[in-house]
Amino acid sequence: MKGQPVQVVEAKDDHLFELNEEALSEILMNPNVRDKKVVVLSVAGAFRKGKSFFLDFCLRYLNAYVSIISFNSADWLGDEDSPLDGFPWRGGAERDTTGILLWSEPFTMTIPETGEEVVVLLMDTQGAFDSLSTVKDCATVFALSQLLSSVQVFNIMLNIQEDDLQHLQLFTEYGRLAMEDSNAKPFQDLHFFVRDWQYPYEHDYGNVGGQELIDKRLKIVEGQHSELEQLRRHIRSCFHKIGCYLMPHPGLKVATNPYFDGRLSDITPEFKEHLKKFIPALLSADKLIVKEINGSKITCRELLEYFKAYLKMYQGDEIPEPKSMLIATAEANNLSAVANSKEHYIKEMEEVICGGNRPYVNPEILLSQHVRFKDSAIKMFDTCRKMGGTEFSASYRQKLDKEIAEQYEYLIKHNESKNVLAAAKTPAVLFCTIVA
Ligand code: GDP
Ligand code: MG
Repeated sequence: MKGQPVQVVEAKDDHLFELNEEALSEILMNPNVRDKKVVVLSVAGAFRKGKSFFLDFCLRYLNAYVSIISFNSADWLGDEDSPLDGFPWRGGAERDTTGILLWSEPFTMTIPETGEEVVVLLMDTQGAFDSLSTVKDCATVFALSQLLSSVQVFNIMLNIQEDDLQHLQLFTEYGRLAMEDSNAKPFQDLHFFVRDWQYPYEHDYGNVGGQELIDKRLKIVEGQHSELEQLRRHIRSCFHKIGCYLMPHPGLKVATNPYFDGRLSDITPEFKEHLKKFIPALLSADKLIVKEINGSKITCRELLEYFKAYLKMYQGDEIPEPKSMLIATAEANNLSAVANSKEHYIKEMEEVICGGNRPYVNPEILLSQHVRFKDSAIKMFDTCRKMGGTEFSASYRQKLDKEIAEQYEYLIKHNESKNVLAAAKTPAVLFCTIVA
Protein backbone atom coordinates (compact mmCIF):
# COMPACT_ATOMS: atom_id res chain seq x y z
CA MET A 1 0.00 0.00 0.00
CA LYS A 2 1.29 3.45 -0.90
CA GLY A 3 1.62 6.10 1.77
CA GLN A 4 1.66 6.31 5.52
CA PRO A 5 -0.15 8.09 8.32
CA VAL A 6 1.13 11.61 8.95
CA GLN A 7 0.57 13.43 12.21
CA VAL A 8 -0.51 16.90 11.08
CA VAL A 9 -1.83 18.19 14.41
CA GLU A 10 -0.26 17.24 17.69
CA ALA A 11 -1.19 17.98 21.29
CA LYS A 12 1.83 19.15 23.21
CA ASP A 13 2.45 18.48 26.90
CA ASP A 14 0.97 21.77 28.02
CA HIS A 15 -2.26 21.04 26.12
CA LEU A 16 -1.38 23.37 23.31
CA PHE A 17 -1.91 22.17 19.80
CA GLU A 18 0.72 22.36 17.13
CA LEU A 19 0.24 22.23 13.39
CA ASN A 20 2.88 20.34 11.45
CA GLU A 21 2.63 22.78 8.60
CA GLU A 22 5.47 21.33 6.61
CA ALA A 23 3.99 17.83 6.56
CA LEU A 24 0.52 19.15 5.86
CA SER A 25 1.74 21.35 3.00
CA GLU A 26 3.52 18.40 1.49
CA ILE A 27 0.17 16.64 1.21
CA LEU A 28 -2.09 19.54 0.29
CA MET A 29 0.24 21.60 -1.91
CA ASN A 30 1.35 18.72 -4.08
CA PRO A 31 0.92 20.10 -7.64
CA ASN A 32 -1.28 17.13 -8.54
CA VAL A 33 -3.87 17.98 -5.94
CA ARG A 34 -3.58 21.55 -4.69
CA ASP A 35 -6.11 23.10 -7.06
CA LYS A 36 -8.60 20.26 -6.96
CA LYS A 37 -11.69 20.27 -4.79
CA VAL A 38 -11.33 18.25 -1.64
CA VAL A 39 -13.45 15.66 0.17
CA VAL A 40 -12.47 15.12 3.80
CA LEU A 41 -13.73 12.08 5.64
CA SER A 42 -12.91 12.23 9.31
CA VAL A 43 -13.63 9.76 12.09
CA ALA A 44 -13.93 11.15 15.60
CA GLY A 45 -15.03 9.84 18.97
CA ALA A 46 -13.70 8.23 22.10
CA PHE A 47 -10.46 6.35 22.41
CA ARG A 48 -10.05 2.62 21.54
CA LYS A 49 -13.37 2.18 19.86
CA GLY A 50 -12.18 0.95 16.49
CA LYS A 51 -11.88 4.26 14.61
CA SER A 52 -8.50 3.59 13.03
CA PHE A 53 -9.45 -0.03 12.43
CA PHE A 54 -12.45 1.16 10.44
CA LEU A 55 -10.42 3.75 8.53
CA ASP A 56 -8.01 1.06 7.40
CA PHE A 57 -10.88 -0.62 5.59
CA CYS A 58 -11.70 2.75 4.01
CA LEU A 59 -8.09 2.82 2.84
CA ARG A 60 -8.52 -0.60 1.28
CA TYR A 61 -11.58 0.63 -0.56
CA LEU A 62 -9.84 3.73 -1.92
CA ASN A 63 -6.71 1.82 -2.83
CA ALA A 64 -8.76 -0.69 -4.77
CA TYR A 65 -10.57 2.15 -6.51
CA VAL A 66 -7.40 3.87 -7.69
CA SER A 67 -5.40 0.76 -8.51
CA ILE A 68 -7.89 -1.62 -10.10
CA ILE A 69 -8.80 -0.55 -13.59
CA SER A 70 -12.19 -2.21 -13.69
CA PHE A 71 -13.07 -1.57 -10.09
CA ASN A 72 -15.08 -4.49 -8.84
CA SER A 73 -16.93 -3.41 -5.76
CA ALA A 74 -17.18 -7.02 -4.55
CA ASP A 75 -13.58 -7.77 -3.69
CA TRP A 76 -12.02 -4.60 -2.37
CA LEU A 77 -12.14 -5.87 1.21
CA GLY A 78 -9.05 -7.96 0.48
CA ASP A 79 -8.00 -11.51 1.11
CA GLU A 80 -8.81 -13.45 4.25
CA ASP A 81 -5.35 -13.78 5.75
CA SER A 82 -3.62 -10.43 5.32
CA PRO A 83 -3.03 -8.35 8.43
CA LEU A 84 -4.77 -4.99 8.42
CA ASP A 85 -2.47 -2.00 8.09
CA GLY A 86 -2.66 1.72 7.47
CA PHE A 87 -3.52 4.02 10.36
CA PRO A 88 -2.16 2.47 13.57
CA TRP A 89 -4.91 0.62 15.39
CA ARG A 90 -5.16 -2.01 18.10
CA GLY A 91 -5.52 -2.20 21.84
CA GLY A 92 -2.62 -2.51 24.20
CA ALA A 93 -0.84 -0.26 26.62
CA GLU A 94 0.73 2.10 24.08
CA ARG A 95 -1.09 5.34 24.00
CA ASP A 96 -1.12 7.17 20.66
CA THR A 97 -0.29 10.83 20.46
CA THR A 98 -3.37 12.99 20.72
CA GLY A 99 -4.05 14.85 17.52
CA ILE A 100 -4.98 14.45 13.90
CA LEU A 101 -3.51 12.17 11.29
CA LEU A 102 -3.91 12.30 7.53
CA TRP A 103 -3.05 9.61 5.05
CA SER A 104 -0.05 10.88 3.09
CA GLU A 105 -1.34 9.73 -0.31
CA PRO A 106 -4.40 11.65 -1.40
CA PHE A 107 -6.78 9.66 -3.59
CA THR A 108 -8.05 11.25 -6.78
CA MET A 109 -11.53 10.20 -7.82
CA THR A 110 -13.82 11.30 -10.62
CA ILE A 111 -17.36 12.37 -9.85
CA PRO A 112 -19.40 10.54 -12.50
CA GLU A 113 -22.06 13.20 -12.90
CA THR A 114 -19.70 16.05 -13.74
CA GLY A 115 -16.47 14.28 -14.69
CA GLU A 116 -14.67 16.49 -12.18
CA GLU A 117 -11.61 15.07 -10.44
CA VAL A 118 -11.65 15.55 -6.70
CA VAL A 119 -9.23 14.60 -3.96
CA VAL A 120 -10.30 12.36 -1.10
CA LEU A 121 -8.49 12.70 2.21
CA LEU A 122 -8.89 10.38 5.17
CA MET A 123 -8.52 11.91 8.59
CA ASP A 124 -7.97 9.93 11.76
CA THR A 125 -8.35 11.61 15.11
CA GLN A 126 -6.91 10.60 18.43
CA GLY A 127 -8.43 12.34 21.33
CA ALA A 128 -7.62 9.97 24.11
CA PHE A 129 -10.59 10.27 26.40
CA ASP A 130 -8.51 9.12 29.31
CA SER A 131 -6.92 10.53 32.43
CA LEU A 132 -3.83 11.76 30.64
CA SER A 133 -5.60 14.23 28.47
CA THR A 134 -8.01 16.86 29.54
CA VAL A 135 -11.51 17.54 28.44
CA LYS A 136 -10.14 20.44 26.45
CA ASP A 137 -7.94 18.16 24.34
CA CYS A 138 -10.83 15.90 23.39
CA ALA A 139 -13.07 18.81 22.63
CA THR A 140 -10.35 20.38 20.50
CA VAL A 141 -9.73 17.28 18.43
CA PHE A 142 -13.43 16.73 18.00
CA ALA A 143 -14.00 20.35 16.99
CA LEU A 144 -11.14 20.39 14.49
CA SER A 145 -12.48 17.20 12.97
CA GLN A 146 -15.91 18.75 12.60
CA LEU A 147 -14.66 22.07 11.21
CA LEU A 148 -12.26 20.55 8.70
CA SER A 149 -14.26 17.62 7.34
CA SER A 150 -17.07 17.37 4.84
CA VAL A 151 -18.10 13.97 6.15
CA GLN A 152 -17.83 13.47 9.87
CA VAL A 153 -18.18 9.93 11.15
CA PHE A 154 -18.97 10.11 14.85
CA ASN A 155 -17.85 6.76 16.22
CA ILE A 156 -19.77 5.57 19.27
CA MET A 157 -19.85 2.34 21.24
CA LEU A 158 -23.13 0.54 21.91
CA ASN A 159 -25.69 3.33 21.75
CA ILE A 160 -26.30 7.04 21.19
CA GLN A 161 -26.48 8.76 24.57
CA GLU A 162 -27.48 12.25 25.54
CA ASP A 163 -23.85 13.27 26.15
CA ASP A 164 -22.93 12.20 22.61
CA LEU A 165 -25.45 14.73 21.40
CA GLN A 166 -24.01 17.31 23.77
CA HIS A 167 -20.66 16.99 22.02
CA LEU A 168 -22.38 18.73 19.15
CA GLN A 169 -23.56 21.69 21.20
CA LEU A 170 -20.56 23.89 20.38
CA PHE A 171 -21.22 23.49 16.66
CA THR A 172 -24.87 24.19 16.87
CA GLU A 173 -24.07 27.52 18.46
CA TYR A 174 -21.42 28.19 15.83
CA GLY A 175 -23.97 27.18 13.21
CA ARG A 176 -26.55 29.57 14.58
CA LEU A 177 -24.10 32.49 14.33
CA ALA A 178 -22.93 31.43 10.87
CA MET A 179 -26.48 31.21 9.63
CA GLU A 180 -27.21 34.75 10.77
CA ASP A 181 -24.62 35.73 8.20
CA SER A 182 -25.67 33.54 5.32
CA ASN A 183 -28.34 30.93 4.98
CA ALA A 184 -25.97 28.16 3.96
CA LYS A 185 -25.90 25.33 6.49
CA PRO A 186 -22.44 25.37 8.05
CA PHE A 187 -21.89 21.62 8.17
CA GLN A 188 -22.41 18.84 5.71
CA ASP A 189 -22.75 15.14 6.50
CA LEU A 190 -22.75 13.73 9.98
CA HIS A 191 -22.91 9.98 10.43
CA PHE A 192 -23.35 8.45 13.82
CA PHE A 193 -21.53 5.13 13.59
CA VAL A 194 -22.69 2.88 16.40
CA ARG A 195 -20.40 -0.09 17.07
CA ASP A 196 -21.47 -3.35 18.72
CA TRP A 197 -25.14 -2.52 18.37
CA GLN A 198 -27.02 -4.99 20.54
CA TYR A 199 -30.67 -4.51 19.72
CA PRO A 200 -31.15 -5.47 16.06
CA TYR A 201 -34.63 -6.69 16.97
CA GLU A 202 -35.54 -3.10 17.85
CA HIS A 203 -33.66 -1.36 15.06
CA ASP A 204 -32.02 -3.45 12.41
CA TYR A 205 -28.28 -3.20 11.61
CA GLY A 206 -27.41 -0.82 8.83
CA ASN A 207 -28.58 2.61 7.79
CA VAL A 208 -32.34 2.04 7.88
CA GLY A 209 -32.32 0.91 11.51
CA GLY A 210 -29.77 3.65 12.19
CA GLN A 211 -32.00 6.31 10.73
CA GLU A 212 -34.85 5.12 12.94
CA LEU A 213 -32.62 5.33 15.99
CA ILE A 214 -31.26 8.80 15.25
CA ASP A 215 -34.71 10.09 14.38
CA LYS A 216 -35.89 8.81 17.73
CA ARG A 217 -32.97 10.42 19.57
CA LEU A 218 -33.44 13.75 17.83
CA LYS A 219 -37.17 13.77 18.17
CA ILE A 220 -38.69 16.62 20.04
CA VAL A 221 -41.29 15.31 22.41
CA GLU A 222 -43.82 17.13 24.48
CA GLY A 223 -42.73 18.00 27.97
CA GLN A 224 -39.04 17.75 27.07
CA HIS A 225 -36.73 20.14 28.88
CA SER A 226 -36.34 23.23 26.71
CA GLU A 227 -32.54 22.87 26.63
CA LEU A 228 -32.80 19.36 25.24
CA GLU A 229 -35.37 20.51 22.77
CA GLN A 230 -33.22 23.40 21.56
CA LEU A 231 -30.18 21.21 21.19
CA ARG A 232 -32.16 18.87 18.95
CA ARG A 233 -33.61 21.67 16.88
CA HIS A 234 -30.19 23.22 16.35
CA ILE A 235 -28.44 19.96 15.51
CA ARG A 236 -30.94 19.37 12.73
CA SER A 237 -30.58 22.88 11.36
CA CYS A 238 -26.75 22.88 11.24
CA PHE A 239 -26.12 19.79 9.14
CA HIS A 240 -27.13 19.05 5.59
CA LYS A 241 -27.59 15.44 6.42
CA ILE A 242 -27.60 13.40 9.59
CA GLY A 243 -27.40 9.65 9.21
CA CYS A 244 -26.69 6.74 11.48
CA TYR A 245 -25.31 3.27 10.85
CA LEU A 246 -25.76 0.42 13.31
CA MET A 247 -22.86 -1.99 13.17
CA PRO A 248 -22.88 -5.57 14.42
CA HIS A 249 -20.23 -6.88 16.82
CA PRO A 250 -17.06 -7.90 14.93
CA GLY A 251 -16.49 -11.07 16.99
CA LEU A 252 -14.51 -11.92 20.08
CA LYS A 253 -11.13 -12.13 18.37
CA VAL A 254 -11.42 -8.51 17.24
CA ALA A 255 -12.66 -7.31 20.59
CA THR A 256 -10.40 -9.26 22.95
CA ASN A 257 -7.61 -11.28 21.37
CA PRO A 258 -4.29 -9.48 21.86
CA TYR A 259 -2.76 -11.37 18.92
CA PHE A 260 -5.49 -10.43 16.46
CA ASP A 261 -3.79 -8.76 13.49
CA GLY A 262 -6.85 -7.56 11.60
CA ARG A 263 -7.14 -10.47 9.18
CA LEU A 264 -10.61 -10.92 7.72
CA SER A 265 -10.79 -14.60 8.64
CA ASP A 266 -11.00 -13.58 12.31
CA ILE A 267 -13.90 -11.16 11.77
CA THR A 268 -17.56 -12.21 11.75
CA PRO A 269 -19.25 -12.39 8.33
CA GLU A 270 -21.96 -9.90 9.41
CA PHE A 271 -19.38 -7.28 10.31
CA LYS A 272 -17.68 -7.70 6.94
CA GLU A 273 -21.01 -7.54 5.13
CA HIS A 274 -21.75 -4.24 6.79
CA LEU A 275 -18.30 -2.82 6.01
CA LYS A 276 -19.11 -3.61 2.39
CA LYS A 277 -22.31 -1.63 2.66
CA PHE A 278 -21.29 1.33 4.78
CA ILE A 279 -17.92 2.21 3.21
CA PRO A 280 -19.20 2.49 -0.39
CA ALA A 281 -22.11 4.53 0.94
CA LEU A 282 -19.53 7.06 2.15
CA LEU A 283 -16.81 6.81 -0.45
CA SER A 284 -18.06 5.58 -3.80
CA ALA A 285 -17.46 8.21 -6.46
CA ASP A 286 -21.14 9.10 -6.82
CA LYS A 287 -21.53 9.64 -3.06
CA LEU A 288 -18.58 11.94 -2.44
CA ILE A 289 -19.27 15.20 -0.62
CA VAL A 290 -16.85 18.00 -1.46
CA LYS A 291 -15.95 20.19 1.51
CA GLU A 292 -17.91 23.44 1.49
CA ILE A 293 -17.44 26.51 3.60
CA ASN A 294 -20.08 29.19 3.46
CA GLY A 295 -21.63 27.41 0.50
CA SER A 296 -18.44 27.40 -1.61
CA LYS A 297 -16.55 24.25 -2.47
CA ILE A 298 -12.94 24.42 -1.41
CA THR A 299 -9.64 23.14 -2.82
CA CYS A 300 -6.73 21.44 -1.05
CA ARG A 301 -4.84 24.73 -1.15
CA GLU A 302 -7.71 26.47 0.63
CA LEU A 303 -8.02 23.68 3.15
CA LEU A 304 -4.47 24.47 4.23
CA GLU A 305 -5.55 28.04 5.04
CA TYR A 306 -8.38 26.72 7.20
CA PHE A 307 -6.07 24.37 9.07
CA LYS A 308 -3.81 27.30 9.86
CA ALA A 309 -6.65 29.58 10.91
CA TYR A 310 -8.27 26.99 13.18
CA LEU A 311 -5.04 25.94 14.81
CA LYS A 312 -4.21 29.55 15.58
CA MET A 313 -7.48 29.78 17.43
CA TYR A 314 -6.45 26.87 19.69
CA GLN A 315 -3.25 28.45 20.97
CA GLY A 316 -4.73 29.84 24.16
CA ASP A 317 -5.80 28.13 27.37
CA GLU A 318 -9.48 28.39 26.71
CA ILE A 319 -11.71 26.43 24.40
CA PRO A 320 -12.61 28.97 21.74
CA GLU A 321 -16.07 30.42 21.77
CA PRO A 322 -18.31 29.76 18.77
CA LYS A 323 -17.92 33.42 17.94
CA SER A 324 -14.15 33.18 17.60
CA MET A 325 -14.53 29.99 15.55
CA LEU A 326 -16.68 31.96 13.19
CA ILE A 327 -14.17 34.82 13.01
CA ALA A 328 -11.35 32.37 12.28
CA THR A 329 -13.44 30.85 9.49
CA ALA A 330 -14.24 34.25 8.04
CA GLU A 331 -10.57 35.23 8.17
CA ALA A 332 -9.42 32.11 6.36
CA ASN A 333 -12.26 32.57 3.94
CA ASN A 334 -11.23 36.14 3.08
CA LEU A 335 -7.55 35.19 2.95
CA SER A 336 -8.37 32.47 0.40
CA ALA A 337 -10.28 35.01 -1.66
CA VAL A 338 -7.23 37.32 -1.58
CA ALA A 339 -4.91 34.47 -2.58
CA ASN A 340 -7.15 33.34 -5.43
CA SER A 341 -7.54 36.84 -6.84
CA LYS A 342 -3.83 37.58 -6.58
CA GLU A 343 -3.07 34.31 -8.28
CA HIS A 344 -5.43 35.31 -11.07
CA TYR A 345 -3.57 38.61 -11.53
CA ILE A 346 -0.15 36.95 -11.60
CA LYS A 347 -1.26 34.28 -14.01
CA GLU A 348 -2.82 36.74 -16.45
CA MET A 349 0.16 39.10 -16.34
CA GLU A 350 2.62 36.29 -16.89
CA GLU A 351 0.65 34.67 -19.63
CA VAL A 352 -0.09 37.79 -21.55
CA ILE A 353 2.90 39.92 -21.05
CA CYS A 354 5.84 39.21 -18.85
CA GLY A 355 6.48 35.55 -18.10
CA GLY A 356 10.10 34.37 -17.71
CA ASN A 357 10.83 33.86 -21.41
CA ARG A 358 8.79 36.74 -22.81
CA PRO A 359 10.72 39.66 -24.30
CA TYR A 360 10.96 43.13 -22.79
CA VAL A 361 7.78 45.17 -23.20
CA ASN A 362 7.16 48.86 -23.33
CA PRO A 363 6.43 50.06 -19.74
CA GLU A 364 3.29 51.79 -20.93
CA ILE A 365 1.88 48.54 -22.21
CA LEU A 366 2.86 46.90 -18.96
CA LEU A 367 0.96 49.58 -17.07
CA SER A 368 -2.16 49.30 -19.17
CA GLN A 369 -2.26 45.52 -18.74
CA HIS A 370 -1.63 45.93 -15.02
CA VAL A 371 -4.64 48.23 -14.75
CA ARG A 372 -6.76 45.80 -16.68
CA PHE A 373 -5.86 42.67 -14.69
CA LYS A 374 -5.82 44.41 -11.37
CA ASP A 375 -9.32 45.48 -12.12
CA SER A 376 -10.45 41.98 -12.93
CA ALA A 377 -8.69 40.58 -9.83
CA ILE A 378 -10.46 43.08 -7.58
CA LYS A 379 -13.74 42.29 -9.28
CA MET A 380 -13.12 38.63 -8.71
CA PHE A 381 -12.56 39.33 -5.01
CA ASP A 382 -15.68 41.47 -4.77
CA THR A 383 -17.95 38.97 -6.43
CA CYS A 384 -16.80 35.81 -4.66
CA ARG A 385 -18.85 34.73 -1.66
CA LYS A 386 -17.19 35.78 1.54
CA MET A 387 -18.01 35.65 5.20
CA GLY A 388 -18.06 38.41 7.76
CA GLY A 389 -19.77 41.17 5.75
CA THR A 390 -18.42 43.98 3.58
CA GLU A 391 -16.82 45.89 6.40
CA PHE A 392 -14.88 42.82 7.52
CA SER A 393 -13.79 42.16 3.94
CA ALA A 394 -12.64 45.76 3.35
CA SER A 395 -9.26 45.22 5.03
CA TYR A 396 -8.70 42.09 2.96
CA ARG A 397 -9.54 44.07 -0.18
CA GLN A 398 -6.85 46.56 0.83
CA LYS A 399 -4.44 43.72 1.41
CA LEU A 400 -5.14 42.44 -2.10
CA ASP A 401 -4.61 45.92 -3.48
CA LYS A 402 -1.28 46.21 -1.69
CA GLU A 403 -0.08 42.77 -2.74
CA ILE A 404 -0.95 43.43 -6.37
CA ALA A 405 0.94 46.74 -6.20
CA GLU A 406 3.99 44.89 -4.85
CA GLN A 407 3.69 42.30 -7.54
CA TYR A 408 3.52 45.04 -10.15
CA GLU A 409 6.68 46.66 -8.76
CA TYR A 410 8.39 43.32 -9.07
CA LEU A 411 7.18 42.89 -12.65
CA ILE A 412 8.46 46.34 -13.57
CA LYS A 413 11.91 45.45 -12.27
CA HIS A 414 11.83 42.08 -13.94
CA ASN A 415 10.88 43.72 -17.22
CA GLU A 416 13.64 46.32 -16.84
CA SER A 417 16.20 43.60 -16.31
CA LYS A 418 15.26 42.17 -19.69
CA ASN A 419 15.86 45.59 -21.19
CA VAL A 420 19.30 45.75 -19.57
CA LEU A 421 20.05 42.33 -20.94
CA ALA A 422 18.98 43.45 -24.36
CA ALA A 423 21.19 46.53 -24.06
CA ALA A 424 24.10 44.46 -22.83
CA LYS A 425 23.70 42.07 -25.69
CA THR A 426 23.92 44.79 -28.32
CA PRO A 427 27.66 45.61 -28.02
CA ALA A 428 28.46 41.92 -28.03
CA VAL A 429 26.55 41.49 -31.23
CA LEU A 430 28.29 44.54 -32.65
CA PHE A 431 31.65 43.20 -31.57
CA CYS A 432 30.97 39.88 -33.22
CA THR A 433 29.95 41.59 -36.38
CA ILE A 434 33.16 43.64 -36.43
CA VAL A 435 35.34 40.63 -35.79
CA ALA A 436 33.58 38.69 -38.50
P1 GDP B 1 -9.36 3.86 18.09
O1 GDP B 1 -8.56 4.30 19.28
O2 GDP B 1 -10.78 4.29 18.19
O3 GDP B 1 -8.73 4.26 16.81
O4 GDP B 1 -9.42 2.25 18.13
P2 GDP B 1 -8.58 1.19 17.27
O5 GDP B 1 -8.96 1.24 15.84
O6 GDP B 1 -7.14 1.32 17.60
O7 GDP B 1 -9.14 -0.17 17.85
C1 GDP B 1 -9.10 -0.47 19.22
C2 GDP B 1 -9.48 -1.91 19.46
O8 GDP B 1 -10.85 -2.12 19.15
C3 GDP B 1 -8.70 -2.90 18.63
O9 GDP B 1 -8.23 -3.91 19.49
C4 GDP B 1 -9.71 -3.49 17.65
O10 GDP B 1 -9.46 -4.86 17.42
C5 GDP B 1 -11.02 -3.32 18.37
N1 GDP B 1 -12.17 -3.10 17.51
C6 GDP B 1 -12.22 -2.62 16.23
N2 GDP B 1 -13.46 -2.52 15.79
C7 GDP B 1 -14.27 -2.92 16.79
C8 GDP B 1 -15.70 -3.04 16.96
O11 GDP B 1 -16.51 -2.72 16.06
N3 GDP B 1 -16.14 -3.52 18.17
C9 GDP B 1 -15.28 -3.88 19.17
N4 GDP B 1 -15.80 -4.35 20.30
N5 GDP B 1 -13.96 -3.75 19.05
C10 GDP B 1 -13.45 -3.29 17.89
MG1 MG C 1 -6.95 5.28 16.53
